[in-house]
Amino acid sequence: MLMQPTGIKKLLLLGAGHAHVHVLARLAQNRPADLDVTVVTPYPFQTYSGMTPGFVAGRYSAAECQIPLEPLLRAAGAKWVQARCTGIDAADQRVRLSPAGKSHNVNDIVPPDLRYDLLSIDTGAVIDRERLEAEMPGAAARALIVRPIEAFAALWPQVLALADEKPVSVVVVGAGAAGLELLFAAEQCLRQAGHRAARFTLITGGGEAATNYSDGVQRRVRRQLKRRQITVLRETCVGVEAHEVLLGSGATLACDVPILAIGTHAPPWLQGTGLALSEAGHVLVNAFQQSTSHANVFAAGDVATRADGTHPKSGVYAVRAGPPLAHNLLAAHEGQALKAHHPPQHTLNLLSCGAGHAIASYGPLHVEGAWAWRWKDRIDRAFVAKYSLPFA
Ligand SMILES: Cc1cc2nc3c(=O)[nH]c(=O)nc-3n(C[C@H](O)[C@H](O)[C@H](O)COP(=O)(O)OP(=O)(O)OC[C@H]3O[C@@H](n4cnc5c(N)ncnc54)[C@H](O)[C@@H]3O)c2cc1C
Repeated sequence: MLMQPTGIKKLLLLGAGHAHVHVLARLAQNRPADLDVTVVTPYPFQTYSGMTPGFVAGRYSAAECQIPLEPLLRAAGAKWVQARCTGIDAADQRVRLSPAGKSHNVNDIVPPDLRYDLLSIDTGAVIDRERLEAEMPGAAARALIVRPIEAFAALWPQVLALADEKPVSVVVVGAGAAGLELLFAAEQCLRQAGHRAARFTLITGGGEAATNYSDGVQRRVRRQLKRRQITVLRETCVGVEAHEVLLGSGATLACDVPILAIGTHAPPWLQGTGLALSEAGHVLVNAFQQSTSHANVFAAGDVATRADGTHPKSGVYAVRAGPPLAHNLLAAHEGQALKAHHPPQHTLNLLSCGAGHAIASYGPLHVEGAWAWRWKDRIDRAFVAKYSLPFA
């Protein structure tokens, strides 16, 4: 597909997600002189979620899980606006913002909106607090929610402090990869800290744990849960109250630390943007990661859904979209042909069961061991190192 040169000047990147760090690295190699690049993102770093369970387990520091953005932005010649996007007017080519930092510097005042010629969205998925409150009253205020991951990581030390005071009951709601990895990590961390009386429960939502995985991986997960004496309840959580979790069966479960790792939602601010959205509300994109409704808008990662067949929303797919997205943004700017991105059908999946052990799977194949965790550790550290440019 050939795009006509349109004299595009302002490239706006929303979010510094997995695909956008690659776009910035690509711009650092060669940014066209007539391209003005701005990144809107709330934090001065990008947290690599794949390493967050290792942080909870006590294996990584918070800094080891972060890509500092300042060196990358400087190398790419990009400006940073510390803000959150709260809306888009795709017809008027404007993005609405709200400040995310605490700066008192007058030069850092966040403009209410920004105009763009070319827009790329990689803001990830969210847990929609209003929707959550309707489905699980009390959870938004009382539970430790895994999104945004930065807020989760900042609150985790409070769990450790509470566990030092009394034997805690930790309940993880959500038995997908994120919930399981965090549960295994929390169990390992508290037990290794000597909190032998801490209790751990997994609320699966009704089905088996790890239902998105093959039967073989599910069996391995069940073995790991049993080995660690983690109680598994095939129940739904319908509310969170002070010191207890309410279950669909009508039962209540005593709980000091409710952790919510349920499926994510599309950002509610995408509604009313004028962009074509999937049924679930994600930005609908074609094989070029380009909006199906607006040729000057691109999206990748968990915020986007491919119109030509969906793939799971995961960090691996967000990473894979980085190089084609970078190519297509520059091609769109230069009026060159866009390249189709073909996401692989299967990807290597490494599910950590605490730091030091992981279950590896690829399609129907699955194995586990300490070596699988070391493999994951190497891949994760290499990703963060690749984009962590030295501060000048
Ligand atoms: C605990 C945990 C462990 C995980 N482990 C793995 C794993 O091992 N492998 C795997 O493949 N997947 C894993 N995932 C899933 C993975 O985190 C996501 O699929 C991945 O983060 C999606 O990448 P992304 O680029 O779409 O968004 P993100 O990585 O979420 O990045 C979004 C970016 O946008 C910014 N942002 C957010 N909102 C706004 C806004 N309104 N305006 C501007 N900027 C905004 C954020 O600050 C961030 O910079 C894990 C998830 C969790 C919670």
